[in-house]
Amino acid sequence: MEIYKFGGASIVDAEGIKNITKIISNNLDGKKIIVVSALGKTTNALEDVVNNYVSKDEKYLNYIREIREYHLMVSEQLFPENHNIKFKIFAIFDNVESFCASNTSTLYGYIYDQIISVGELASTTIVSEYLKQEGIKNVLLDARQIIRTDNHYTDAKINWEKTKNLIENNDLITNNQTIITQGFIGATSEKFTTTLGREGSDFTGAIFANILNADKLTIWKDVKGVYNSDPNNYTEAIFIKKMSYREATEMTYYGAKVIHPKTIRPLQNKNITLEVRSYKTPEENGTLIKNSNEVIEYPPIIVYKENQVLLSFSSKDFSFTEAENLRIILKSFDNNRLKINTIQTGAITLSVVVNNKPEKIDAIKDELSKNFEIRFNNNLSLITIRHFDFYTEDTFLRNKNVLLEQRTRETLQVLIRD
Ligand code: ASP
Ligand code: MG
Repeated sequence: MEIYKFGGASIVDAEGIKNITKIISNNLDGKKIIVVSALGKTTNALEDVVNNYVSKDEKYLNYIREIREYHLMVSEQLFPENHNIKFKIFAIFDNVESFCASNTSTLYGYIYDQIISVGELASTTIVSEYLKQEGIKNVLLDARQIIRTDNHYTDAKINWEKTKNLIENNDLITNNQTIITQGFIGATSEKFTTTLGREGSDFTGAIFANILNADKLTIWKDVKGVYNSDPNNYTEAIFIKKMSYREATEMTYYGAKVIHPKTIRPLQNKNITLEVRSYKTPEENGTLIKNSNEVIEYPPIIVYKENQVLLSFSSKDFSFTEAENLRIILKSFDNNRLKINTIQTGAITLSVVVNNKPEKIDAIKDELSKNFEIRFNNNLSLITIRHFDFYTEDTFLRNKNVLLEQRTRETLQVLIRD
């Protein structure tokens, strides 16, 4: 059993859908679950719908219709005129319109998830129908029937036990060779749609792989695999053939966008290989991420995390940054679900680097301003270099305005002003 995941970039247009169809049909050996995200940049476009809708701007309706048009246009190039795909697409987008018309909730996250999920529902419908048309038997499985989450909308947590149960007992999964399903979305036990965080389809792939003890998860990307730096920005980026789970976890944690950071753990836990390879050159092997005893020599790996914020907390009573103060500060980050990217302690000051999430940051400031003097710096970038050497350090950090630096034997991290 293998899991495939295709991201939005692989299915921007009809050509893209034809291409992944070819990849699937060339690999029809064995059972496959194929996880698909929304077409192209549909999720971003749907975010505009959400924002207009919550701010009561009627333009949201035009945006929905533009997105529907895009899906109809792609379908027109894939199916004969009398195909019922058109009705299916209309029905999917009608659902969103009626949700918007009848919704009375003011909960942003809830509204976001009910609307945003339509991207995946529409893309998988098109892909599944097109595969059928091309003679590839498959079933479309609604991920919301099997991916159970809590109700932390926009960033829902998987309920592993319930999800495992639902997946293991799902007849469609048991009885079919090829299954198409949505990445990124799930549902609460009350059947409300949830999402797993932007770019979360990779994680969906890993959930299936883990629960079904898959032999492998393959993530099909627009690049050949994992590189030591972003190949879209550096022509000299070095391709990495093999990688350990540990290295992949480190680099995605620090911001490498090639795979979603949550993807590795479910695979590592079951010793499942991850291959990152290109849908543009499917005949080439990609990067294999797996357990191995051999020592892998890595080139320096450079990861950028942009739009970072440095928050510094100094105790007002000059108490040291000891366990009690640390506990209070970290608790507030935990309560507000704001992930800390880097942390540094001084005598009475704790410095923390986080992604720029204004609402969460304001909530934390409110909670902590009574006891701490809080300083704030934004528009920063966190550069992490794993396995650094003098040459790389000099190339990437020369003449940079450095606000914070941390060095271990393996990892150099520098916070700079952009
Ligand atoms: N379509 C979603 C997003 O763009 C999920 C994904 O692509 O993984 O964030
Ligand atoms: Mg996407």
